[in-house]
Amino acid sequence: MSSAPAATSEIFDVVIVGGGPVGAALGALLVRLRSRGLRVLLLERDLPDLAQPIDARDLRVFALSRASERVLRAAGAWSALAVPGVLASYERMHVWPRDADEPRSEGSLTFDAAELGEANLGYIVGNAALQRATLAAFVEGGGTVQRAQLEDICFAEAGLELLTSAGRCMAKLVVGADGGRSRVREIADLGVEAQDYLQLAIVANVQSERPHEHTAWQRFTGEGTLALLPLASGESSIVWSLPRARAEALLASPPHEFASELMTASAGVLGALELVSLRRSFPLRRVNAPQYTRERCALVGDAAHIVHPLAGQGVNLGLLDAAALAEVLEAATLEGEDPGALRVLRRYERWRKSDNELMATALDLFNRFLAFGGDEWSRWVERGLGVVGRSALLRRPFAERALGLAGELPRVARRA
Ligand SMILES: Cc1cc2nc3c(=O)[nH]c(=O)nc-3n(C[C@H](O)[C@H](O)[C@H](O)COP(=O)(O)OP(=O)(O)OC[C@H]3O[C@@H](n4cnc5c(N)ncnc54)[C@H](O)[C@@H]3O)c2cc1C
Repeated sequence: MSSAPAATSEIFDVVIVGGGPVGAALGALLVRLRSRGLRVLLLERDLPDLAQPIDARDLRVFALSRASERVLRAAGAWSALAVPGVLASYERMHVWPRDADEPRSEGSLTFDAAELGEANLGYIVGNAALQRATLAAFVEGGGTVQRAQLEDICFAEAGLELLTSAGRCMAKLVVGADGGRSRVREIADLGVEAQDYLQLAIVANVQSERPHEHTAWQRFTGEGTLALLPLASGESSIVWSLPRARAEALLASPPHEFASELMTASAGVLGALELVSLRRSFPLRRVNAPQYTRERCALVGDAAHIVHPLAGQGVNLGLLDAAALAEVLEAATLEGEDPGALRVLRRYERWRKSDNELMATALDLFNRFLAFGGDEWSRWVERGLGVVGRSALLRRPFAERALGLAGELPRVARRA
């Protein structure tokens, strides 16, 4: 790993700002392109120590789709994750509405890997483990990582100059993978549309009286959404989104009271629950960059879009962005095109933006009509959930979406 400041004389084809899971996966894909030869620098202000073994314990976890698994395999990051104790596969998903106490009741929706002919529906993995595995894959593939914060970018026709806390460097293309408060998006003036959900998502780990059965449990509670995600340790991770004041009261409550409220919200599906970690919370907002690209600049992951976490789609969409951008850049470099040219980057934007917006809108509707509900429209949507739940034919397209296999997929995310 290079941690020396990049001097002005160093010219990179691509500089990625942000070494979260999406930026690091993009880097790992770019250094493995069939066209080869791309010089890639990744800047990360909070760079973890890559020499330390991966620690699976994490309060912040992701449900990775099948498409994400394939992208991570292509990026060379999967083998570091597929070790005992890091990944937990889940084989079923039960989604049930607030009026039903039972996840297998009439009005619920169940996806079963066996019914779909799949080994599982996906994997639960910690944020830190995913970030470490993707960063390590980038470095192993020949990428340069630098602990530095981006401060400014000077755009010129022939290239870019980036000013960072560690010095200056030149590039043909800068990719903003720097999360929801993207500095690249701001400097490049790509705009931002934001909507505050006025909710917090509480995350914590719990030990349950009954085993989690390698199942992801999700209940629309009438005041938000509660997900119980199975961990390799046998514990479950909760993601509980609620109106802000209610969430703050729960965060301040003693652990036993919190656990008792949690058990009520989960309708006792895993029996009694015991809090075995700290509680953390995240404010929820929807963010959309009206433009993902301009000459010599592109956005990926949360820098381009933040969606409601109720279906665990954020990092999955970001990994598809990374794979799509890598594919577009591969084709461009094979044709001898400039990777920073707007006509090249627009291919990526046209490919990913509408899919991301479609998902964000669907999640808005789930949040409005299923998580909260209470009106006549919501009852119709709840009935619709039950109808889909009873028909294997109707369930299939929803399952394809959950597996991340719907829409126009990048090559590396397609079925082998
Ligand atoms: C409660 C909750 C639960 C979620 N659950 C799921 C789930 O189950 N499945 C799922 O797919 N998604 C989930 N998400 C969404 C997921 O967390 C995000 O989509 C994902 O973390 C985005 O990754 P990223 O790499 O784009 O951004 P980030 O993870 O935010 O990474 C950005 C990186 O950029 C760095 N950075 C920022 N600015 C600079 C700068 N100026 N210079 C250098 N570095 C910089 C930061 O240090 C950071 O490492 C959830 C989100 C929440 C809030």
